[in-house]
Amino acid sequence: MPDSRETLTIKAFVTGYPVKHSRSPLIHGHWLRQFKIDGSYEAVAIEPASLPDFMNGLRSGTNGFVGGNVTIPHKESAYRLADRPDDLAQELGAVNTLWLEDGQIHATNTDGFGFLANLDAYHKGWDRTDKAVIFGAGGASRAVVQALRNRGVREINVLNRTVSKAQELRDRFGSNIFAHSVAALGEVSAGAGLFVNTTSLGMDGSEAPFIDFSKLASGAVVTDIVYVPLKTPILKMAEEQGFSTVDGLGMLLHQARPGFEKWFGKKPDVDEELRSLIIADMDVHA
Ligand code: NAP
Repeated sequence: MPDSRETLTIKAFVTGYPVKHSRSPLIHGHWLRQFKIDGSYEAVAIEPASLPDFMNGLRSGTNGFVGGNVTIPHKESAYRLADRPDDLAQELGAVNTLWLEDGQIHATNTDGFGFLANLDAYHKGWDRTDKAVIFGAGGASRAVVQALRNRGVREINVLNRTVSKAQELRDRFGSNIFAHSVAALGEVSAGAGLFVNTTSLGMDGSEAPFIDFSKLASGAVVTDIVYVPLKTPILKMAEEQGFSTVDGLGMLLHQARPGFEKWFGKKPDVDEELRSLIIADMDVHA
């Protein structure tokens, strides 16, 4: 007789290469315990060359998963291998969340949702501004730019060391986006109500150059999607210059919500207990 508990267990995954660093199992494990769901969420390391096989196993149901997350370096390949990427994913060309429906792999990208939900949670009203400055034009910046445009921010200025990458975002996301070199910061930050760091500067104790925020609108919000350390050098500089800040951990936590709901059927919340759990893990690995 098969174990009836085993047959009911709902299985989801996160895959990357490597994937050991992922905090997603901690997040989903917390919610599984909170809802007392008979489910599992496991980290599965898949080499890039083996991703097509893994996706085939997901589609056919042979690996037993209902869906999962994909992280670096699989976000673009998983987009190409999915059967039904949604509109957000098609515009981005990258996905982080997969789920199986009627034998097809559906896919979306929830980074932009996580980014906005974090700002909404910590600084209600941040979106009254018409003008934002985004520092960085890498993979994560794309989702941030798309989310801000979709929220209705009319002027989104993207500054990047490699200007061609900022121009690529402008070409991809349309006429509300303006591409600049980093040297244009003073000029383009005048009157902006939101500054977002999406570069990896300041991550894991690395240094960040001084940023003069004085031209931002009064009451502007500065946020950093880097969340290790929680208070990054850029957030410190903004606080010292009198601006409100929002750290990037909430983006990571909120981006996990839509996937959990798809796989396990419950709407999870981001609470202080979850935040503390991840902060404790960051302290252990500091
Ligand atoms: P990425 O694709 O490698 O992009 C890195 C960005 O940082 C590029 O714009 C790059 O500029 C810039 N950069 C790197 N070193 C620089 C330097 N010395 N001077 C100026 N600019 C520099 O990385 P990503 O995937 O977008 O991730 C960026 C950061 O966001 C990482 O720290 C990641 O952990 C974090 N993140 C957080 C969340 C969250 O949930 N909170 C989600 C995703 C990512 P060039 O184009 O000129 O190289």
